[in-house]
Amino acid sequence: MDLKGVIRNVPDFPKPGIQFKDITTLLLNPQAFQYTINCFVDRYTSLNINAIVAVESRGFIFGSVIAYNLKCPLVLARKKGKLPAEKITESFALEYGWDTIEMHVDALKEGQRVVIVDDLLATGGTVSAVVKLVKQLKAIPIEAGFVIELPALKGREILQPLPVFSLVQFDDI
Ligand code: AMP
Repeated sequence: MDLKGVIRNVPDFPKPGIQFKDITTLLLNPQAFQYTINCFVDRYTSLNINAIVAVESRGFIFGSVIAYNLKCPLVLARKKGKLPAEKITESFALEYGWDTIEMHVDALKEGQRVVIVDDLLATGGTVSAVVKLVKQLKAIPIEAGFVIELPALKGREILQPLPVFSLVQFDDI
């Protein structure tokens, strides 16, 4: 399956110089979507995973279907102000300014083996913050899984020692 071929590159979005990797074109292709999900499900079936943590918002699309297929709980890591109940919060640096990600305090239990899922790994700042939340709840991050990785931005190094799995890599950023 040529996954790269179904991901649309949109130059200069949302600002000049960014090569935006658009997964909406992947989602329009049912074979590509199924292939993507199956890659993750096949990988994690034997790893005794107890929860999928999906990162808002495109991580929800993939993470929810992976959790459904693995028959394991789905945890939402959401942007600031969206979760209604008691939560923990982690802020992380963006290119300009800060962003905040949150998780409900009762979303994970001590010792649960967790995979964190997002659509794309760039600098790794987002998922680093999610890893901190997972550890705060005493769960165990096993791996971070992405559809797309931009290796030039070295997110994989930021996330060390957490293993990183990605289906396709793009060299332009
Ligand atoms: P980072 O925290 O730098 O790893 O950025 C990851 C988050 O930003 C992911 O949730 C992506 O959806 C989004 N993102 C960053 N760069 C891009 C890009 N070039 N194309 C599409 N999404 C991106």
